[in-house]
Order: sequence, then structure tokens, then C-alpha cells
Amino acid sequence: MSIQVFGLAVSRGVAIGRAVLVASSRVDVAHYFVTAAQIDQEVDRLRQARDVVVDELQALQRDLPSDAPAELSALLDVHLMLLHDETLSEATKHWITERHYNAEWALSAQLEVLARQFDEMDDEYLRERKADVEQVVERLLRVLGKEPHESAVHGGQVPFDRQGSTEDPLVLVASDIAPADMLQFKHSVFTGFVTDVGGRNSHTAIVARSMDIPAVVGAREASRLIRQDDWLVIDGDAGIVVVNPSTIVLEEYRFRQRQSQLERARLDRLRHTPAVTLDGVPVELLANIELPADASAAVEAGAVGVGLFRSEFLFMNRGGDLPDEDEQFEAYRQAVQAMHGLPVTIRTVDIGADKPLDRLTLQELRHEHALNPALGLRAIRWSLSEPGMFRQQLRAILRASAYGKVRILFPMVAHLGEVKMALDVLARVKQQLDEAGRPFGAVEVGAMIEVPAAAILVDHFLRYFDFLSIGTNDLIQYTLAIDRADESVSHLYDPWHPAVLRLLATTIASANEAGKAVSVCGEMAGDPAFTELLLGMGLQSFSMHPSRITLIKQRVLRADTRRLRAQIERVVSSTDPAAECRASLGSLPQ
Ligand code: PEP
Ligand code: MG
Repeated sequence: MSIQVFGLAVSRGVAIGRAVLVASSRVDVAHYFVTAAQIDQEVDRLRQARDVVVDELQALQRDLPSDAPAELSALLDVHLMLLHDETLSEATKHWITERHYNAEWALSAQLEVLARQFDEMDDEYLRERKADVEQVVERLLRVLGKEPHESAVHGGQVPFDRQGSTEDPLVLVASDIAPADMLQFKHSVFTGFVTDVGGRNSHTAIVARSMDIPAVVGAREASRLIRQDDWLVIDGDAGIVVVNPSTIVLEEYRFRQRQSQLERARLDRLRHTPAVTLDGVPVELLANIELPADASAAVEAGAVGVGLFRSEFLFMNRGGDLPDEDEQFEAYRQAVQAMHGLPVTIRTVDIGADKPLDRLTLQELRHEHALNPALGLRAIRWSLSEPGMFRQQLRAILRASAYGKVRILFPMVAHLGEVKMALDVLARVKQQLDEAGRPFGAVEVGAMIEVPAAAILVDHFLRYFDFLSIGTNDLIQYTLAIDRADESVSHLYDPWHPAVLRLLATTIASANEAGKAVSVCGEMAGDPAFTELLLGMGLQSFSMHPSRITLIKQRVLRADTRRLRAQIERVVSSTDPAAECRASLGSLPQ
């Protein structure tokens, strides 16, 4: 039966493929395809892991103290029985032989199938046996993770890679995916993503957009309603997931898929056209990147620099092993050199909120850590509370500036005291490098304006900085008191809110008056619904995912800023700016 699941459209386009359900906690087990020749070996790995776990459990049983409760031995019996049960072992083998999944992936896939069957049982005692299956699978995964094996490329953390496989396209379905896990999928086989939770501007959604892969988040019941291997259509424009579509619906979506491919090919031709408005105003279109390797995609997409390097992605999911100064320096240098003299704006780490250092889902974050992480120890606050790491990062960035044009950006500043402290640390680090005879370039320093306090006092902040970058994602979140990662309030996350637009307009105007560069690097910059509005406010620098550059360039090429500027006051002072924008600027709010 075909059903539809509704969520939030976060990354455009249509993806069609088979569902791969992955539990959030298991997203980071190795997932890759084995070749036909490796299947026997992979089945063997599974068998060997099972033997190891059987030995472990038998040893545990043997060594039980005589006064141990009888239930303990019975429990071990249940686990041993499960290890030999066909619904686990044979069915897991099936995922390896039929779908070419590696053993860990096959186990996670089968666990999802079994967990669902247990959830649907009426008998409470039987329903609770799900925990036993989970424990057994965790043991197997632990054993598999320990042992080295040829088919994995590096230590079980292989990105989803489909060498030589001719299977159907795949779509990932999970309750939640941490931003860093999403990053791991960059070069993966997945043609689309669906998650139960998440907001339109959560970092998971941003990474999905940066991959330019159709995605729907906040689809609530998706991972419960969708079954392993179901056929799915992800409509990333409308935020709809069609489960097991009829032939007619499938044909319709295939047609739309071809149309959007044609549209992309057409836009591609604009890659190297200079972005200049009809009235001759040059507009700078920059790229947002998460890793140094993204820099080459930025150049290919026609970006004239990197407007936001989210350096925190270098720090995530490393356990205690954070990148030291040299490792960071190499990463920054790689990005700088890949840009061939174009500027690279490196933001100091924005750790915290929905980007924890370790791989935590949103729920874990909310319950196990700060109650309100978005208002907690995040971004510059975090850096100032870890002065050693802050100095290390600044040293690494400065050293990389000897290889090209580098700009430093401080995230989430709200107090002038913070600004002075951060600039003080930077001055001291420069002095140390000078004394050590280490070269570095002339680095401009900028502030992200993403807290209303900074936008209101922008004239104060401007005195301390060479440039500003407006983080509209957070500016909206903090102005409207809406958690950007929470789908239950996502309908209230409104970039068109007059208060947001007023803060944006005054920040841009103040920077222009002061003769300082100002850019927007939030998601609004890459959304064509806002291009005319931002140009009308006097913005001449936009930073976005490389995949959005040609789309925005097309809008810039057709815009006349004289006309837009003449109308902007009406839009900004309107109680319904979206409607006014449509009427006066002729742009198309979605
Ligand atoms: C923003 O807040 O708009 C921004 C660009 O930063 P991030 O999305 O990484 O918080
Ligand atoms: Mg931000």
C-alpha cells in the first residue's frame, strides 16, 4: 500500500530509491558495499563474530558465582539462543548476499526489522525481549568493530561507498542524524535522506543541502512507518515522502527528476559569468564550506572565495582526540591553497547547541546535557572558556594565512567584553608567532552578527572589526525565540518576520555607512526568494553552499538595484513583508 509522510522540505529535488533504515545510535557503524567476490568472506566475518560472542557468553555463564540470581543464567541462555536463531543469523546473511551490505550494516538492518516486529507484539513480556536482541547485536557489532578486515578501507569508518555494485539507488531513513554523521555521507551512495526530527535550519539540514541531495526532515513517524527496503520517493521541494508509490506516481516523479536535472544543467552555464546586476553593481557570491576538501567544489561552482568555513566540523566526533595546531594548520592551508588566492573566511569553532563535539542526537543533547543548549556554552563563549584551544586555533589559522588570503570570523558575539577578550587573545598569539619568527599574512577580522544584541548595537561592534557576516539562521532563532532544530516550532521560524528584516536592514546599512564589508552567510543568502530583498537592502556579498551559487547568480543578473532600493523601505516597514516584497520587488517568497 502506498502512503505519504509529511515533513519539512530542506533540500530540493526528487530522489527515488529503496529505504535503508538506520538507528541513530548505529549511524556510525561502518556501512559499505562488498563486492560479489567478497560475499563469502563477509559471511565468514559474521560467523566468526558470532562464535566469539558465543564463547564470551558461555565463559560468562561458566564463571557465574554460585550465589548469582538464577535469572542471570536464564538471560544468558536467551542470548545464546538468539545467536543461533535463524531470524537473526540467516536473515542477516541475506542482507549480505542479496544486497551486498557489509556485516555491520547487515546486522543493523536486520535489527531494525526485528525491533519493529517486537514493537508490534501484544504480549508485554515478548515486547521487552527486543532489548535482548539489541544487546546481542551490540555485542556482535563490538566484536566486528575490533577485528581488522580487508574489505573495509580504513578501520571500519568507511564512507558509504558502492564500488562495483549495480543495486537500486538507496535512501537513508533515520530518526535523527547528527551533523557530523551527515558529513560522513558526503560521498556516499545515498540519493536522499529522511529523518523524524530536525528543523529546516538545523545543522543536519544545512549539511544535507550542502550535499545537494533531496532531503526531508521533521517527518515525525517516518522511521516507524517506513520499512527496510520499501521504495521511496523523496520530494525535497514539497517535504513529502511517498512510500511504495504507484506506477503512475513514480512516473510523474521520474519526469520531475529529469526536469530538474535539465534545469541544473542550464544553470551550470552561468558558473563563470561575473555576478553583476543590470545596473552594473558587482555582487560577490561566496561559498560556505564544512571541510577543506569542499574548497575545490566551491571554485568549480564559481565562488569568488569562501565566506564561511565552519571549522567546528574538524573537531567533531573525535572522542578526546581533538585536532592539534599542526593538524588544523594543514586543514586550513589545504583550503587556502585550493582557493588559489581567493579569500577564505575561517570561523573559529562554533561548538555547542546542535553541533556537539561528540556524536549525540538532539534528544540525547537535550536530556543529557544543557537544557537549552542553543543558549548555553556555544561558539565564542566556548572558545573563551577553553583559552588553550582558542589560542591553538588562532595560531593555526594565522600560520595558514602565509599561504593566501585569510580572514578570521568570530561567531555569536553578543558582548563587547567578549570581543575585547577575543581580540586580545588574537593580538597575543600574533606577538608569539612574531617572536618565534613564524610568518603570517595580513588577516582581516570579522564578527558574525547573529544575536539580536549585536545587531542592535552594530555601530559599537563595527569599531572593532574589519567586516561583518550576518548569520541569519541564528539571528532568526534568537530574535524569534525559536529553536532552529526543533520541528515542533518550525512553522514559527519565519525569515520574513518584520523584526528579523529590520535587524538585517539596519545591520547592512550601518556597515555600508561605515565603509566596512558586510555579507550574509545564513541560509537566506542561498534562497532565491530573498535575493532581491537583500540586494534592495544594499547587500553586495552573499555566502552560501556552492550548489546554490548559479541559482542566486541568475537572480542577481536579472536584478536592478536602483529599483529595489527605492522600494525597500516599504517592504521593511510593512506588517506583511512577504506580500509587500511580492508586490513591490517582484520577487517570489515561497
Ligand atoms: C548562521 O547562524 O546563519 C550561520 C551561518 O551559522 P551556523 O548556521 O553555522 O550557526
Ligand atoms: Mg550561526
